[in-house]
Amino acid sequence: MPIDQSEAIILRTENFAEQDKLVVFFSKEKGLVRGIAKGARKFNNRFGSSLEPFSVVKIFYYEKEQSDLVTISNCDLLESAFDLFRNPKMACLFSYIAELTEKFSPYKTGEEKLFRLLHSLIKAARGGQALDVLARYFEFWFLKINGLLPDFQFCQKCRKPIGGAAWMEPQKDGILCQKCAREKKHEVTLLMRQVIKWMRKNPPEASPPPEWSPGEWKQLGRLFQSIITFHLEETPRSLNLLDF
Ligand SMILES: [Zn+2]
Repeated sequence: MPIDQSEAIILRTENFAEQDKLVVFFSKEKGLVRGIAKGARKFNNRFGSSLEPFSVVKIFYYEKEQSDLVTISNCDLLESAFDLFRNPKMACLFSYIAELTEKFSPYKTGEEKLFRLLHSLIKAARGGQALDVLARYFEFWFLKINGLLPDFQFCQKCRKPIGGAAWMEPQKDGILCQKCAREKKHEVTLLMRQVIKWMRKNPPEASPPPEWSPGEWKQLGRLFQSIITFHLEETPRSLNLLDF
C-alpha cells in the first residue's frame, strides 16, 4: 500500500480499542485527517510523545479501502508543544482552536493557509504572545480563511463607508451603519475595527498598541464568537472554558 507522508499538526487524540489511539491531525497537503495509531497506548511505543496536541510532526500513513480512517505507521516529532500546555489557559485556547478546526474543515481537503495559521500561532505562543491576542488572531484569520468574515468597512445595506458606530447584521455577514441598523445588538465599535485592521497587517507575534485593554480584546472576541456560533449552529464546547 502506498504510504503518504506529510508535515502535520496534531489536533487531538482519543483512546481507541485496547491499545490504539484515534488521532485527529491537520496536514499541510490534505488538511483534516483522522487515523489510527496502532499500539500507541502501549508502554514505550514507537510514537513516544509525538502525538501530543499541537505537536508539529512528520506523519506517515496509508489509506485503507472502505474506511475514512487512515492507518498511521509512524510519526516523527519536529516541534513539541508540551511546554505550552503547562499553562492551563493556553491548553484551553488550543482546545478551542482544535475544536473549531475540526468542526469547520472539510475532510481531506488541503488548506495550506490554515496549516500556516496554526503553525504561526504555536510559534507566537512559544514566543510569549498574550493569550487574548492569540485567541483574537486565530478567530479573525479562521473566519477569513473560511470565507465567513464580514466586510467591516462598508455598510452592507447602503454601501457607504462606516465612520462611527456600526452593528452586526443579524445574519452575521456584514455590518450596518447607524441609519440602516434596526436590531442594535452586537455593536462594532471604531476601536474594534482598528484592532481588526491591525490584525490584518501584522503577524501573530507582533506587539499590539499597549492602550488596547483586555476588556476590549474580550469584547472583540464576543463579536467573532457570535459569528462562529451562528455558522456552527451551536456553541463550541471549548468556548465555555475561554475566559479571555
Ligand atoms: Zn447604511
